[in-house]
Amino acid sequence: MRERQTDVNQGDQSKHHTKTPKTAGVTRLAPSPTGALHLGNVRTFLVNWAMARQKGMKVILRVENLDGPRVKVGADRGAIEILRWLGMDWDEGPYYQRDDLAVYEAAMATLKKKGLVYPCRCTRREIESAQSAPHGDEHELQYPGTCRDKFNHEIDDGEGEFAWRVKVPSSEVVYEDVLCGTQRMDVQSQVGDFVMWTKMGLPAYQLAVVVDDARQGVTEVVRGDDLLRSTARQLFLYRSLGLQSPARWVHLPLVVGEDGRRLAKRHGDTRAAMYRDAGVCAERLVGLMAYWCGITNQRIEMSAGEFADGFDLGKMPREQVVFGAEDHAWLMGE
Ligand code: GLU
Repeated sequence: MRERQTDVNQGDQSKHHTKTPKTAGVTRLAPSPTGALHLGNVRTFLVNWAMARQKGMKVILRVENLDGPRVKVGADRGAIEILRWLGMDWDEGPYYQRDDLAVYEAAMATLKKKGLVYPCRCTRREIESAQSAPHGDEHELQYPGTCRDKFNHEIDDGEGEFAWRVKVPSSEVVYEDVLCGTQRMDVQSQVGDFVMWTKMGLPAYQLAVVVDDARQGVTEVVRGDDLLRSTARQLFLYRSLGLQSPARWVHLPLVVGEDGRRLAKRHGDTRAAMYRDAGVCAERLVGLMAYWCGITNQRIEMSAGEFADGFDLGKMPREQVVFGAEDHAWLMGE
């Protein structure tokens, strides 16, 4: 795997922003290789990267390839190529989460020693049927705690498939998001005891992201606001594991289609690679992002370096960005 990774990361650095001292903090670009990067992903990465380069932060590239069944062969490479094609660079990585499960196992061992996790054999259907009220997010269920005190012995593989959940107290997690303001969330009432280790035998996203952000010294997290609620879960885990949490959280409003729903396959082909392969230049994609981010008031081509020079979080629209037919037509030069 290593060899495959190095040829797409030759470490050539942006002409604009490299020689700044790396003392101003650490951030990460964390693509999930579950599909190709679309324009919404590109916008998040570009903003993340631009803010880091403006401040002279260290940028880490971390491929989040733990999502077993959803990981697509070659999607990691595709994502890295797109980031590089657009003009982004990084100081460390790519690191692949799957390459070293020992760090997540160690965190699990800590949670087990503290008596904070328990095995759970509930199926999704069982959890669904136990819901007392319809849930805000269609994908998120509140786990009713069915297995919390069920297994009072060491469970072993002979007992079938099971996940591990963390015991979440009913209390509020409060944190500050740079864009979204003060957040107050009761994780127990949102999702209940959530999964730390999946039935597939892999660390869950929430555990992996906390372990990695802590060990990689991440001080600033920039990502889509679909993860705003996850941050409360992660802060709870930092506390449970005795780890230092990032100091700054920036959750960006999502890019949506004309129907107001999060950009996805239903909106047609919005992959950055589709535009690249159709002959659209990188500056055009970056130019569209600049327009979306309030850097320019019309669509004009620009380089990633120019984007980083011009970006101002304070001027970025706080509403969702709508990707519409006009944007597509402009990209295609129509
Ligand atoms: N890998 C996640 C994604 O691509 C990002 C997770 C994070 O930033 O914490 O959606």
